[in-house]
Amino acid sequence: MSKGTIIFDLDGVLARDGETRPFVDIRPPDYAGFNSAAPHARPVPEMLAFAKAMHRQDYRVAVFTARSSDIFHSTRAWLDKWGMEFATLYMRSPAAENDTPAKAKKDMLEAEIELFGVPALAFDNEDENIKMYEARGITALRVQYD
Ligand SMILES: [Mg+2]
Repeated sequence: MSKGTIIFDLDGVLARDGETRPFVDIRPPDYAGFNSAAPHARPVPEMLAFAKAMHRQDYRVAVFTARSSDIFHSTRAWLDKWGMEFATLYMRSPAAENDTPAKAKKDMLEAEIELFGVPALAFDNEDENIKMYEARGITALRVQYD
């Protein structure tokens, strides 16, 4: 029985996003460039260690990323490579490519709540996502690892 769910964003939280964010900050976003740079993102050892510790303490660790599920395999490989331990990984469906990250994550959150209840805590690097979690009554902490 899990003690509660803790959500970790990927880019900017578990992975440094200084090299990947420029691809999605431009309009229109360069998703092909992002997708080829993402496997090389540098890890954030302290956040990975924290997530692993929470997983081992029987919290349900959920990774929520606005990355497209087109790069599920390389994303999964990145998490394994850096020793991430977690219960579930939510990714953006290709059909939701035009949704804002906050909308995509709200949909992930509602799916998670339906199955496992309201998460205890969330970490994210974007203000819009922090506001979205807080509006749902979830304590959300903003971190930013470039
Ligand atoms: Mg992020």
